[in-house]
Amino acid sequence: MARVALVTGGTRGIGKAISARLKADGFKVAANYAGNTEAADATAKELGVTAYKWDVGNAQACRDGVAKVEADLGPVDVLVNNAGITRDGFFHKMSEEQWDEVIRVDLSSLFYMTRPIYEGMRNRGYGRIINITSINGQKGQPGQVNYSAAKAGMIGFTKALAQEGAMKGVTVNCVAPGYIDTDMVAAVPEEVLKKIIATIPVGRLGKAEEIAHAVAFLASEQSGFVTGATMTVNGAQYIAG
Ligand code: NDP
Repeated sequence: MARVALVTGGTRGIGKAISARLKADGFKVAANYAGNTEAADATAKELGVTAYKWDVGNAQACRDGVAKVEADLGPVDVLVNNAGITRDGFFHKMSEEQWDEVIRVDLSSLFYMTRPIYEGMRNRGYGRIINITSINGQKGQPGQVNYSAAKAGMIGFTKALAQEGAMKGVTVNCVAPGYIDTDMVAAVPEEVLKKIIATIPVGRLGKAEEIAHAVAFLASEQSGFVTGATMTVNGAQYIAG
């Protein structure tokens, strides 16, 4: 029986590449998204995956969404917490809304999404949880105090839950992308982007498929001894200790 993978934000950017790769690896894939139904429908059609709309920053919506996915496809074996947003601004100008929204969507979503799925994984004695953090959660980034805090929080969540899930066959890991060629990075002004690329030893932005490759490794049955880890995929831009 094909295992079921749920990818949040799985219809665009890095998430789309993850959905595509997991589908190619034989999973039944549910791709969640927030509101861009046009992109979601196109991805679902292109990849042969099922798209589901809900806000990962809303606890009840996550419970309902997970229940719908499990009713349609079966219990979720692989959860990829990929959906994320930025609301950048220097801290002295950052509003409470900018702070709250990023913490809610990028960090609280880990609780909202993982909580209803983890218990089933634990009971079945198998699960793979993969959280997409960021280089900026590892090193901190000016103008992104909210995002850096949320992404660093994901790493703490991963380390703690990995230890709880270890005896129950549930692995919990992070993938920490560097700068990847997606819509999120396209929003960065061109002159800023040039300066960023100059700091990447590999000399280019990463590709979404390169993140999907790391996720596929962690999602596989053979990766059962890898847990609590953060896999850095950033072209040597920042080498975390
Ligand atoms: P994109 O902006 O390209 O895609 C975001 C995806 O997440 C979309 O499918 C979007 O849905 C969905 N999404 C956004 N908010 C919500 C929400 N509240 N509920 C459900 N789905 C939501 O992002 P990227 O592919 O660039 O980033 C993916 C992840 O990788 C993020 O967590 C990001 O922080 C992280 N990352 C990205 C880097 C990069 O260089 N791009 C670098 C390091 C980390 P919709 O289409 O409906 O809007």
